[in-house]
Amino acid sequence: MDMVAAQAAVKGLELAYILQENIPTQLSGDEARLRQILINLLGNAVKFTEHGHAVLFVSLVSDEKRSINNDFSRGQDEYHFIVRDTGIGITPQEAERLFRPFTQGDSSKTKNFGGTGLGLAISKRLVQLMGGRIWIESEIGMGSAFHFTIRAEAIREREPQPAKDQVLLGKSVIIVSGNNCLRTMLSRIISPWGLAVSECPDGNAALEAVSGNDINLAIVDAVLPDMSGTDLAHRIKLKGHAGTFVAVMSYIGGNIQPDDFVSGWMAKPIKSQALHSLIAKLFGAENGLKTSQPAKPDDHRRPMQKESISILLAEDNPVNEKVAQMMLKRLGYRADVASNGLEALNLLEAKRYDLILMDIQMPQMDGLEATRIIRKKMEPIDRPCIIAMTAYALDGDKEACLKAGMDDYISKPIQIKELEDVLQRCKDRMKKPT
Ligand code: ADP
Repeated sequence: MDMVAAQAAVKGLELAYILQENIPTQLSGDEARLRQILINLLGNAVKFTEHGHAVLFVSLVSDEKRSINNDFSRGQDEYHFIVRDTGIGITPQEAERLFRPFTQGDSSKTKNFGGTGLGLAISKRLVQLMGGRIWIESEIGMGSAFHFTIRAEAIREREPQPAKDQVLLGKSVIIVSGNNCLRTMLSRIISPWGLAVSECPDGNAALEAVSGNDINLAIVDAVLPDMSGTDLAHRIKLKGHAGTFVAVMSYIGGNIQPDDFVSGWMAKPIKSQALHSLIAKLFGAENGLKTSQPAKPDDHRRPMQKESISILLAEDNPVNEKVAQMMLKRLGYRADVASNGLEALNLLEAKRYDLILMDIQMPQMDGLEATRIIRKKMEPIDRPCIIAMTAYALDGDKEACLKAGMDDYISKPIQIKELEDVLQRCKDRMKKPT
């Protein structure tokens, strides 16, 4: 969600995710590939939508269906993902062709949006490799829903009764947003924490709710259909509800500072951890208590990073990819993965990378070609440092890489010390003014 958040914010689109309650907290599977599919679908949803929202739904396929298609491997469940948008939509004729390589919808439309026509074909392959299928439901002008399924094994089940934080129990919260999906998402996240949640579609409905009831917290969108979130905060306080906390949610880059009226703010897309720690902090401070369950950072997802540099690893061979990932992890980094040059270009459109580790030989588009395109398309200041990874150690190779515009070179099989040195050289280069 974070990778498409900036584009969504520019367009004023709402991004939300709704996970069914019984989704396990940990699955065993190919995280990098799943991320690639989701980035592609969410990226398209944001790209082809001008107003409204892009929402990700995830559910566990029910047991009844499992017993009908009893071809599941032991221990694996089927998960159903839907990326739904309120964008331009696709005709049934276009929809049929979409998952074939190099297919784009109506060319007059795609001219405005750019793209390669490969994302969905790659997503289809990846979904199939994960034992699933992909399909689309769409209506022109109304939006699209891309569905896909994967099979994966649950590693850690969701606790049936989440441990409840004492300072939150019984507190009443209103969620104020013009966007139905965002309200649903927040209600679903907050209710299991033991708070009483109700939803208001605009500022006036919120003022009414606050007047009639003892509301402890209002979680408010920065932009509401009838007023701004900060306006609402002021009005709630002016109405004499000094004890009601108001937390404002804004797009990333929105600069709302807590003041006498606004008690806290959060950047969208909202994450349950951030939300929990904000709410616990507000109520904990009020009671002069330390919260019984301070929100912990999500350690296993954020390995210790010496310095935060964003790395893209473009490598088609899954084994080499794994090895490179493991070495990067040992050195305190993590990387997104592209399995060919085109995927790397797609990811570069969605996110800024400081550094690319680029395999030379890849299907569809090799590393040299991808590098030439990056050099042509991107301004020097935005351009990532590109390190070639090549299987041969022939003299001419290094020259070919440098000629294509790569900054450095490492030969395979990669040695961890060499990798560390080459990363350091790139970091030094990044520090120097261009
Ligand atoms: P591209 O890189 O061109 O976006 P994709 O394979 O991801 O390649 O998408 C192929 C085509 O499918 C797009 O060019 C567009 O016409 C259509 N498409 C994909 N997602 C959407 C969507 N959410 N809404 C409307 N059209 C879409």
